[in-house]
Parts: sequence; structure tokens; C-alpha cells
Amino acid sequence: MAKKVLKFGGTSVGSIERIINAAKIIKREHEDGNSIIVIVSAMAGKTNELIDQSKAISKNFTRRELDVLLTSGEQVSSALLCGALNEIGVKSKSWMNWQIPIITEGENTNSRIININKEKINKFISDGGVAVIPGFQGVSINGDITSIGRGGSDATAVAVAKIFNADSCEIYTDVDGVYSSDPNKIPVAKKIDKISYEEMLELSSLGAKVMQSSAVQTAMIHDIPLEVKSTFTNRKGTKIFGQENIDYNKVITGVAYSKDEAKITLIGVQDKPGVAAEVFEPISKSQINIDMVIQNVSSDGKTTDLTFTIKREELDKTIDTIKNNKKIKFKELSFKKDVSKISIVGAGMVTTPGVTYKMFRALASENINILAISTSEIKISVIINDIDTLRAVKKLHSIFELD
Ligand code: ASP
Ligand code: MG
Repeated sequence: MAKKVLKFGGTSVGSIERIINAAKIIKREHEDGNSIIVIVSAMAGKTNELIDQSKAISKNFTRRELDVLLTSGEQVSSALLCGALNEIGVKSKSWMNWQIPIITEGENTNSRIININKEKINKFISDGGVAVIPGFQGVSINGDITSIGRGGSDATAVAVAKIFNADSCEIYTDVDGVYSSDPNKIPVAKKIDKISYEEMLELSSLGAKVMQSSAVQTAMIHDIPLEVKSTFTNRKGTKIFGQENIDYNKVITGVAYSKDEAKITLIGVQDKPGVAAEVFEPISKSQINIDMVIQNVSSDGKTTDLTFTIKREELDKTIDTIKNNKKIKFKELSFKKDVSKISIVGAGMVTTPGVTYKMFRALASENINILAISTSEIKISVIINDIDTLRAVKKLHSIFELD
């Protein structure tokens, strides 16, 4: 008998039929003799709808009230799912965050789970019941309702798997796993059977939005194996675990892209200690996320060029921040709006020489110009013109034998 955490995302509980379908999956797992804790998201679209309502009421809706509002979505889906389970003869019960309690720290709308009381739930599952826990919710030490960030039900599932020492943590969603590229745009993309946490993180931070990245990170730190699978098919999903469990027969595991990038270059910045910090400090204070940073070697020993990328929607704000920064001097600021980032990701590249060259050669053969490059141990990313995105992804996907 295994102890399983089963998490159902928003689309998996997006309608009454789907909730009934999820209940049937849970019943099957339960009848197989497993001890089950279920985590649910709000019904698809619900959280966004509640956010819109708060905005229609006030621009200054406080974060505290926002949490009271937003976490209600998970209350609804928890109760409906328990109803569906009870209806088909599976004894089940739901608890809200404060009843368990799921203790969090940090500010409203962006808290972190620090502890979960196991007592009631352990008692109920050892008596053969299915426990249902709302994802995304928490309660602060002061007793305020909190939430743990958008997409946070994944983080709840991982935290529950860890604290209850579960044997597995299965993430039920609307895709049947993680793909070697975006299956909607690249029809030859294949489902990946096994992937390491590191690769998954690289792929998901690059736009393959299957699971919340911080949840994968927590799973990695505590070595909790995950499985992403579809609620709507019976197919096997993608297993996510430590690299040592994977036999790499391919150099590259996936090709990811994100289209909404922009690139800024500061030409003729002073080349002395502290300048990069002066450039980036005000940008980070404006809550803008910097992605790639590339600094050229100084040719005259006095000045250098600094290139970095950001999300396209933050371009104007970033340029303003730089222009208002009195602490830095540069000759010229240039930027490019319509760029995208293409990355090849694979733990197999660590032991295989020539991957970088092969990638660049492939892009050259398609006449695609590379605007910037950055690499990590298991990833090579390039910035290219936006219009070349799909052509580049297709080429790389085929040249690295992922088709
Ligand atoms: N309902 C929350 C959201 O939409 C949490 C989740 O779905 O994971 O962000
Ligand atoms: Mg979600």
C-alpha cells in the first residue's frame, strides 16, 4: 500500500463533469489499496475571474482581502470534489487551510508554506478515507488567510508530499506530460518519459508551463519524485526525478522558446568595479526581472558594452529606469523589441562535446542571425529575431533527433 498525493489542476476540475471524472480516477487509486491525499486547484478561470472582480471594486483592494477572496475558489472545488467522491461511495472529507492548519510565512498573496499539521488528515486516511486539501491556501501565524502565489497548488502538493512522507506525488493536468517542445506549434514534438528536475526547471522557466517552477525546485531540494499526467487519457505521464535515475541516450531533451523578450545594450559603459551593480540595482528595485546578461571584453580598457534581456512588456519601464539612473554613464542605449529566446536543454550535453557548434551551425544553415548567447551546464540559449522563432525551433528539434 502506497501513500499517494494526487493533485488536480484547474482544467481537471473545470466543470461538474470533470470533477466527476477526477473522482473516478481517485476512486480507482483508492480501490487499488493506496492511501490518498488529494490537492485541488480552483475551477479553471475562477481565480482570474475573482481578480477581475476585485479590480472592478477598487484599485486599492488590499492583499489581505484579495487572499480571502482568491482562496475561495479552492474551497468550492474541494467541497464539490468531496461531494462527487461521497456520491460514488468513496468516504472523503475536505478541510480549509485554517482547519488543518497549513501555516505560512511571508506577505499576503505571496506566502510560503512552513508547516502543515498532520493529525486530522493522518487519522482520516488511516481510517480509509480520502482527504481533500485545497491547494494555494494558507493561514499566517496571526490567523490571516494567505495564498502562496499563482499556480501555487503545485507547491501545496509538493509540500504535502514532503510533510506526509508520501511515496508519490502525481500532478494531474490537461496535457499528458512534458514534451520535447511546444506540441501545439511543433507537431513532431514527443512526450518525454523521464526528465530530471534540473531539465524540467530549465524547460518550465522557458515557457513550457506544465508545473509551477518553484514547486519543482522544492521537489528537487527534498528529492520528491513527481509525475505529470493527463486527467483525460490513460496514457503514462512524464516522471520527474533526480538525474541519477535517467539513462541519457540523447544529447538534448527538449527545445524551448519564449517569444516575448526584448534586448537592451548599453554602449560605452565605464569598465570598473561596481558599475554592473549600479546598472542593475535600480532595475531590480523596479521589480523587473533580468534574464541574460552579456558583457563584452573592453577593447580600450576604459569602457565596455553591456547587453541584457528582459520581458518585452517591461522594456519601456526598464529604459526609463536606466535613463533616470544618475549613477551610471554610457555613450548610447540601443534596444531591440521583437526578439525571442530559443534554448536547447539536456543533461546529456554535459558529456558530449560539440553541441554548441552543432546548434550554431544549424541556425546558420537556416540563415538565422544570433543576437546574443548564454550557456549553463545543461542549457544553451540564443536570442534571435522574433520572426525566426518557429523556423529555429523546428530546425533544432530535428537536428538533435527529437522529431
Ligand atoms: N487557483 C490558483 C491560481 O489560479 C492556484 C492554482 O491553480 O494552482 O493561480
Ligand atoms: Mg494551476
